[in-house]
Amino acid sequence: MKKQIVERKLQEIVHKKNNMKYKLSKREVAELLREKGIHPTSQRIEIAHFIYQKPQHISAEEILHHLNKEYEKVSQATVYNTLRLFVEKNVVKELIFSSDRIYYDSNTTNHHHFLDLDTGKIYDIPACLIPAPELNKKELGNIEVEEINILIKGRLKSNHFEGNYNKS
Ligand SMILES: [Zn+2]
Repeated sequence: MKKQIVERKLQEIVHKKNNMKYKLSKREVAELLREKGIHPTSQRIEIAHFIYQKPQHISAEEILHHLNKEYEKVSQATVYNTLRLFVEKNVVKELIFSSDRIYYDSNTTNHHHFLDLDTGKIYDIPACLIPAPELNKKELGNIEVEEINILIKGRLKSNHFEGNYNKS
């Protein structure tokens, strides 16, 4: 198989595997946290369970609001500390658009984003849809590349975003 086809297949497998993460039971979430080397306290399970309901980009405030409504009083510090740990262990990805717009992404595969300037919605764009070999390089000049995320800002020309993108 050509390299490109192999890569595309690989992307599909990763995407499928990643999708399996959604709608997990709390017991499965606990197992997943353990696999990532995180001790699954009840609050960590609640937070991960909420984020993993679907592919989404969610702020710490939204998570805190949900937990306090549905679960029990959880301190802001607990939520922030848990999210920091989750980012470190790749349970979620952190998206920093600006200092007051930070989101937590339940899709941990390599992907890019489209920000709809009319609605403020964020959509996932699979990495394979932006075919630029530079994006796969592990080194650029004297930079050892950890990750490349592209943020496309714009407006939709029709009412819906074409393709299989995750929105939140
Ligand atoms: Zn995303």
